[in-house]
Amino acid sequence: MGFKQKLSKAMITKAGPSRIKGMIAKQKSLSNHPAMLLPTSTSPTRFEIPFEMLKLLKERNDIEMRQVFPIRQMLSIMRNINLSVDSLSKNPSIPSTSASVEFLEQLKDFANSLGVGPFEFVKLPTDLIFQDFGVIYDNAIIIALEMSKEKIDKAPSQDTIDMVFGTYDELGIAANKIADFLREQGYAAQADHPLGGLVLFPPLAQKAGIGRVGKHGLLITPEFGPRVRLAAVYTSIQNLPFADTNYHDWIDEYCKICGICIKQCPPQAILEEAVTHDTGRITNITQQSCFEYFTQFYGCSICVKVCPFSNAGDTYERLKVVIEKRI
Ligand code: SF4
Ligand code: SF4
Repeated sequence: MGFKQKLSKAMITKAGPSRIKGMIAKQKSLSNHPAMLLPTSTSPTRFEIPFEMLKLLKERNDIEMRQVFPIRQMLSIMRNINLSVDSLSKNPSIPSTSASVEFLEQLKDFANSLGVGPFEFVKLPTDLIFQDFGVIYDNAIIIALEMSKEKIDKAPSQDTIDMVFGTYDELGIAANKIADFLREQGYAAQADHPLGGLVLFPPLAQKAGIGRVGKHGLLITPEFGPRVRLAAVYTSIQNLPFADTNYHDWIDEYCKICGICIKQCPPQAILEEAVTHDTGRITNITQQSCFEYFTQFYGCSICVKVCPFSNAGDTYERLKVVIEKRI
């Protein structure tokens, strides 16, 4: 590591943790507001990835900053997380609660113009809100953004982690823009950033029918497989056409005969069977093993790369036929 890189790492690992702590405290302060929807006793605890990354970077001289913490993207991500809290003050004091079909189409078109898709409406169960956080409404718009296949195929690499954080950033910016679009039309809105989110996104997206959570803990979508990042926007609109059907249950059966991510995960962090962790999450991932590996190897992403659904195209339909033939 050169002198300049060492200096920038020293500066960021010194000043960064307090800035991240400030940002988290700002997000948590919302839960003190009487109108906020709060988590339940069974809600999961959030794992503070950026904070834990900086802690590890400080301890480890052999890991370069850019390997796990692409600075340009992280600064923009933090700006947009702060913005998602600060912009709540722009919500109308008496927000509209009903929207026409035409307006919802316009909203979707606007999201699509930002590159966002899939896009669905879903009722947020409060037991998906992380402990100590809060959201303004349970009327949720769940949004996704594709991660580049070309860059995922290079995982783990600098190109991959730069793209992954770039996708987080782009989607966070889009969530704030969608919230602003709603406010301009008289609705209240709250953007929920894909990194440092207030709720557990994969099961919420599954409830919305966007896809199915695979063994690797990521949402598998028909369009892009697990090559997506997820975010949400909560709104005062009460008559959203909430999705209540999921056509992707068969993916569970495919995961049972596949298991590629389990075999290829270098630290063997993916388990055959889901377990309930101390954080309250029920998942096949051993978070600590995954975290330790991905912070040393450019955010890893091997499980995304090897998942057959990442190939997109007609993969979803082809694999569905495989399962239908077995039944
Ligand atoms: S990101 Fe890497 S370490 Fe983590 S579960 Fe996926 S393959 Fe395993
Ligand atoms: S790699 Fe296979 S087992 Fe793992 S999530 Fe994808 S389909 Fe399921």
